[in-house]
Order: sequence, then structure tokens, then C-alpha cells
Amino acid sequence: MKLILLGPPGAGKGTQASMLVNKYNVPQISTGDILRVAVKEKTSMGIKAKEFMDRGALVPDEVVVGIIEERISKEDCNPGFILDGFPRNIAQADALSNMLEKRNEAIDKVISISVDDEELVVRLTGRRTCKDCGKGYHVTFKLPKVSDACDVCGNELMQRDDDRESTVKDRLVVYKEQTQPLIDYYSKKNMLKSIKGEGGIQHIFDQICKIIEEV
Ligand code: ADP
Ligand code: ADP
Ligand code: ZN
Repeated sequence: MKLILLGPPGAGKGTQASMLVNKYNVPQISTGDILRVAVKEKTSMGIKAKEFMDRGALVPDEVVVGIIEERISKEDCNPGFILDGFPRNIAQADALSNMLEKRNEAIDKVISISVDDEELVVRLTGRRTCKDCGKGYHVTFKLPKVSDACDVCGNELMQRDDDRESTVKDRLVVYKEQTQPLIDYYSKKNMLKSIKGEGGIQHIFDQICKIIEEV
């Protein structure tokens, strides 16, 4: 199972991907998560990436393509993987298809999740993230069991720097200009399935599982 979750920031890609990991036992590959770890550890990649991430801009293609190439060649990706946040423009999508082709592999399905802009702003500005493991919560829609503590590791929750309203607006513009064209790109290749990302998290999950299981 090789799956791409496509959608604007705040669509619920990370939330759904982590549920899919539990059900299908394939790894979630989130370029955003990998970059945030690099920023936290102040690696040379992290230092370079941070200036783009703080502005809500895309990190250069060669950096994220390199991350993906390295990650998918690991053994735990043999049964498949879920890409969350990659590809984000046509050049990345072409690079992905070339690297898979060399390995005699291909993406099975691309699931596009759509959510209205106003709802995205509410979701992103209310998102809280575990400082340690990165798990996502929401101040109204997905509260942790104990206030301000991660359900998984118990560490403190924080707001991502780029989830403040001004940067959120910039990220939505970047999405429309650079990432949204991928809907057409994958639709023309007959790889696209679309769902509405509004409504209960479980209801959306059920729709995604149905798409995965249909031949
Ligand atoms: P993405 O990975 O696409 O940026 P997330 O999965 O991090 O999005 O979700 C963004 C925010 O919206 C999080 O705070 C999450 O808890 C919340 N969220 C996710 N799915 C839903 C949903 N169906 N309804 C309401 N809130 C949601
Ligand atoms: P969200 O889904 O909420 O937009 P992500 O965690 O996917 O957040 O991305 C956060 C930031 O990391 C992006 O704004 C961008 O700067 C960088 N990033 C993540 N994935 C990519 C990618 N595939 N290409 C370029 N930049 C990326
Ligand atoms: Zn945690």
C-alpha cells in the first residue's frame, strides 16, 4: 500500500495518517515532522529549513526530495507507506514518480481531502502539538485526556510557530499556488480519489479505509 494524502494545511492529513498507521501497519512519512525534528536538533538541514518554515514557504525541493529518497529506501517501507505533506508541488511529484519507477514501484492511490478556508484557519490556529513526540491535538475538536499533556508520552503541548494566524494565511496562499495543481496532476493520471474533510474524524477515517480497500 503506497498512499499519498493530499490536502491543504489543517485538512487532517496527519490525524488520519496516524490512524492509518495503526490499522494497516505501514509507516507514515511526514516531511513536516522530519523537518521539525531537524530544526529541533539544529542539524545543518534544520538550520537551513527553519527560515523557510517560519515564513510558511516551501523548503527547497532538493532537501525534501532527498529526505523522501532516503526514507523510502528503509526496510520498514517494503510493505508500503503513507506520504503526508509530500509532494507539495509538481517538481516534487515528478521526482517521486521517477524515484519509484527506478525501484519498479508506484503510488497506488492519492486521496485528496478538501476543507473550506475558514475552517482551516480555525483548525490551524487551535492546533496544539506535543513538544516531544509531535502528536496533534485541538483546543476544541481534539482535547487530550489530561489538560495540556500528550496522551501518548505525557509531555507538554505547544503551539507551532507557523500555526499563528499571520503565517497560516501565507501557508494557505502557498498551498493554492503550488500544491493545489497536484489535484489536476493526479486526476489526469487516474490516481485521484477525493473526499470532504469536514465532519467527524472517525467518519472521515471510514471513508479513507473504504477507498484503500476498493480495487
Ligand atoms: P494536517 O496534517 O493536514 O495539517 P492535522 O491532522 O494536523 O492536519 O489537523 C489540523 C488540526 O485540526 C488539528 O488540531 C486536528 O486535531 C484538527 N482536526 C483534524 N481532523 C479534524 C476534523 N475532522 N474535525 C475537526 N478538527 C480536526
Ligand atoms: P501542514 O500540513 O500543517 O502545512 P507540515 O508539517 O506538512 O504542515 O509542513 C510544515 C512546513 O514544513 C511547511 O510550511 C514547509 O515549510 C515545510 N514542508 C513540509 N513538507 C514540505 C514539502 N514537501 N516541501 C517543501 N516544504 C515542506
Ligand atoms: Zn507526545
